[in-house]
Amino acid sequence: MARREDIYDVCVVGAGIEGSSTARYLASRKKKTLLLEQFPLPHARGSSHGHSRIVRYGYPEDFHVALMPEAFEIWSEVEKKYGKPLIKKCGLLTIDEPPYADVAQVITNVRGVGKECIPLSAEESNKRFPGLNFSPDDSCALEQDSGLIDANSALKAMQEQFVEFGGILHDREKVLDIEPGTVVSIKTVNNTYKARSVVITVGPWVNKVLNPLGVTIPLSIQRMSVCYWPVTEPHLYSADKFPAYIFCAPLGCRKTHVYGFPINEYPGLIKICPHKGTDIPSADHRDSCTPQEDPNVQFTAKVIKARFPGVKPEPSIVESCIYSVTPDHLFVMDKHPEFRNIVIGAGFSGHGFKMAPVVGKILSQMALGEKVSYDVLPFRLSRFTSFGRSKSSL
Ligand SMILES: Cc1cc2nc3c(=O)[nH]c(=O)nc-3n(C[C@H](O)[C@H](O)[C@H](O)COP(=O)(O)OP(=O)(O)OC[C@H]3O[C@@H](n4cnc5c(N)ncnc54)[C@H](O)[C@@H]3O)c2cc1C
Repeated sequence: MARREDIYDVCVVGAGIEGSSTARYLASRKKKTLLLEQFPLPHARGSSHGHSRIVRYGYPEDFHVALMPEAFEIWSEVEKKYGKPLIKKCGLLTIDEPPYADVAQVITNVRGVGKECIPLSAEESNKRFPGLNFSPDDSCALEQDSGLIDANSALKAMQEQFVEFGGILHDREKVLDIEPGTVVSIKTVNNTYKARSVVITVGPWVNKVLNPLGVTIPLSIQRMSVCYWPVTEPHLYSADKFPAYIFCAPLGCRKTHVYGFPINEYPGLIKICPHKGTDIPSADHRDSCTPQEDPNVQFTAKVIKARFPGVKPEPSIVESCIYSVTPDHLFVMDKHPEFRNIVIGAGFSGHGFKMAPVVGKILSQMALGEKVSYDVLPFRLSRFTSFGRSKSSL
C-alpha cells in the first residue's frame, strides 16, 4: 500500500499547453502535482509548438467569450512572472462576407464582456490596412486589445512556473496504463505513481489513453499546414501596422477559414494558414503526407493572390501541427462518466491555446471536486461519447 506522503493530489498526463496550465494552476494552489510528458521537452510533435497563436475575445459563441477575460488576466500574470513579453497586442481583425453571421455576433459578444470591438466597412479597412485587399462586400470587426501570443515561450513559462510553485515535471515518461480507484495508479515507462485524481490532457493521443478506460471521443485528427510566404512589401505587414486576422469566408468559402499574423517569426516571411487540415489515422502519422500536395495550401495561395497585394503566393516554409477536432468543434472538459476522479480535457482543435489558463482552472476544479466557475455544459462528454470498458494497456 502506498504511504500517504507518496500519493499526489493530482497527476496531469500530457504537458502541452492545456496540461501545463492545469498543472501550474494546481501547484499555484499548493496541491501536490505531478506532470508527465511522453517526449523530451520542448518538442514539436503535438499541437502547442510554434511562435504565434491568435489571442482574442471575439467568438460567435458567448460561452467562449466568457472564458477570455480571466484567460487574459492569467496570461498577464504568467507574462509578468516570466519577465519577457508573451503577448503582442497588434489587434485582431475578423473579416466576413454576406450574410455576416460571424462578424455581427463577434461584435455583440465582445462588447458583452466590456471590451471594445470596432465595426469597419471595407472602405475603412482598405485605408487602415493596405496590406489587404478588401472587397466592397466585406464587413470587419477590429478588436484592439487582441493579437498574438508566442506559443513556445508561453508553454515554457507555464512549465517553469509550475516547477517554481513546487510541481514535479517528468518528461520522457510516457503513461502506459491508468488503473482507476479511489487512489488512481498511473503506470509509466519508468514507474508507477499514485494520485487522488488524474487529469488527461494528451491532445491528439487522447483516445489511445481513454479507450482502455472505456471512452472514445469522436475526433478527427488533422495534420495542419503552417505556411510562411515571402513578402515583397514588408512595410505593409509589420506588427505596428498590420493586425492578426481571420477571414471567415475567404473567396466565399465558409468551410475553410484562413488566418494569419503580421511578420513575426522569420524576417521577410509572413504566416498565413488554412484553418482546415488533412485527416490522418493518428498523431503518430503526422509526417506521412506531403505538405506540398495539401489542397488547403493551394487554396490559401489563391486567397493570397486575391487578397494580399504584397505577398508572393508560393510558400517558402510549410511546417506541421495537429488539430484534434470534435464534430461540433467544441472542447471536451468533463469528468470520466464512471471514474469521477479522472478528468478529461481534449478536442482543443484550432482554438484552445488562448483559453488554456482558464481551461487549466476548470480542469483543476473538476479534479479537486470543487464547483466549476464557468458554464461547462457545452463541453460535456455525454454529448457524443460511447462508453464501454475494454481494459488493455496503451
Ligand atoms: C497550426 C495550429 C494553429 C493554431 N492556432 C491557434 C490560434 O491561433 N489560437 C488558439 O487559441 N489556438 C490555436 N491552435 C490550437 C492550440 O494550439 C491547441 O488547441 C492546443 O495547443 C492544444 O493543446 P493540448 O495540450 O491539448 O495538446 P498537445 O499540445 O498536443 O499536448 C498533449 C501532450 O500530451 C503528450 N502525451 C500524449 N500521450 C501521452 C502519454 N501517453 N503519456 C504522457 N504524455 C503524453 C504529448 O506528447 C503532448 O505533449 C492552433 C493549433 C495548431 C495546430
